[in-house]
Amino acid sequence: MAQDQDNFRDSIGTINEDGKRAWIFPKKPSGKFYEYRKYVSYVLLAFLFLAPFVKVNGNQFLMFNVLERRFNIFGFPFWPQDFHLFVISMIIGVIFIALFTVAFGRIFCGWMCPQTIFMEMVFRRIEFWIDGDRGAQIRLSKQPWNAEKIRKRGLKLIVFFFISFLIANVFLAYLIGSDRLIEYITDGPLQHVSTLVSLLIFTAVFYFVFAWFREQVCIIACPYGRMQGVLLDNKSIVVAYDHKRGEAENGRKKFRKGEDRQALGHGDCIDCFQCVNVCPTGIDIRNGTQLECVNCTACIDECDTIMEKVNLPKGLIRYASEDNIEKKSKFKFTPRLKGYTAVLVILTGILIGMLFLRNEVEANILRLPGQLYEHKENNIISNVYTYKLVNKTTKDIPNVSFKLISHKGTINLVRHELFTVPAQGLAEGTLFVEINNSALEGDKNKLSIGVYSGDKLIETATARFLAPRSYK
Ligand code: SF4
Ligand code: SF4
Repeated sequence: MAQDQDNFRDSIGTINEDGKRAWIFPKKPSGKFYEYRKYVSYVLLAFLFLAPFVKVNGNQFLMFNVLERRFNIFGFPFWPQDFHLFVISMIIGVIFIALFTVAFGRIFCGWMCPQTIFMEMVFRRIEFWIDGDRGAQIRLSKQPWNAEKIRKRGLKLIVFFFISFLIANVFLAYLIGSDRLIEYITDGPLQHVSTLVSLLIFTAVFYFVFAWFREQVCIIACPYGRMQGVLLDNKSIVVAYDHKRGEAENGRKKFRKGEDRQALGHGDCIDCFQCVNVCPTGIDIRNGTQLECVNCTACIDECDTIMEKVNLPKGLIRYASEDNIEKKSKFKFTPRLKGYTAVLVILTGILIGMLFLRNEVEANILRLPGQLYEHKENNIISNVYTYKLVNKTTKDIPNVSFKLISHKGTINLVRHELFTVPAQGLAEGTLFVEINNSALEGDKNKLSIGVYSGDKLIETATARFLAPRSYK
């Protein structure tokens, strides 16, 4: 008996006994949670599609330009020099998701993950619209190629391809920036053939994922899904089947009108398989929490509908923890949750502090490698440097100059005395620092150099200044 019950562990719902893909035809969900998920998905889809086109202080709201190593998160631009901030943001994101997973299971997968949103709320709904519900889809897949099948398959291919192309464009806006994407579109795709090729490759990948690979992303490919085993515990709230109520002493049993199930010792599960039919990952939630479950809540809605029909209380499948079902215990703020929350609060505080303390201009002044110093007339010692100024703002910084703060001396630029650092760009060049030896305290001196825009100090940089040892 115990062995039979564990049989489900030997295979996954998406692979048949021959080791081939078992196509899942989930029933169209309906119910309270599905309606809520629809509203959430509309908000998230609007966010996903608009985020690269919204600007904050001239900065794209979200941008992940990996090629040029420029990132914007919530309108804050991150340069390679801000990589530590970017890493902290990512760690906060991971801890936030981990915290949520420990407390509420895969709530992120079911309600917020772009894969689930696009698969269940866009592509699947179009599929229901074109092919019909589960029964019609199974029939269509089995029937030989005829006019109806060609028409439906053709229409689905065109619509899926078009949406994949749209997603690929938005994806590109996240990668290269929406301004550049619009520029490429208005220039005409043939002016930017390599970008067009990338766009078509992205389209093909999205088409492959949503038309064919589907739930396997969550089951096989997603690293977050694979981590569930270590993140969940008995207190995590997940979509769960109340086996105590559903099985009772003598197990589940088909419904028979007028039968006193309680007297016969049978549980409330009427073994109708609707929770299995509706599941987009093809599992039976009655076997307990499983890696494949993305907490989409479709089985909750389905079972509630059945319970209503047979006049039994709803909630046989519901959001609950193992302890809640076994011991009827309520949700507790466990030490693990407290620990994650503390780390999250500390890291968020550090990030906010660093974001506000961060300079809008980053200056790096480095001695030219291999050069020592030059001893000039009138006891003047000269060192040569390269400088790099990064302007993280969306406005040009004009009339930029350098002044020595720590010592009396002069700074000479090789090309211009005053220059402009372009918006979101950088300026680099070479400069000489000349200081009278009498003002130096040894062979290695620490300089403080002010970077000015007009008369306004915009950044301070430090550099090492070498002098002859004998002049100490
Ligand atoms: S939908 Fe509910 S009653 Fe039907 S099999 Fe699933 S758990 Fe049992
Ligand atoms: S078991 Fe239920 S919640 Fe989990 S994936 Fe299947 S339908 Fe969704």
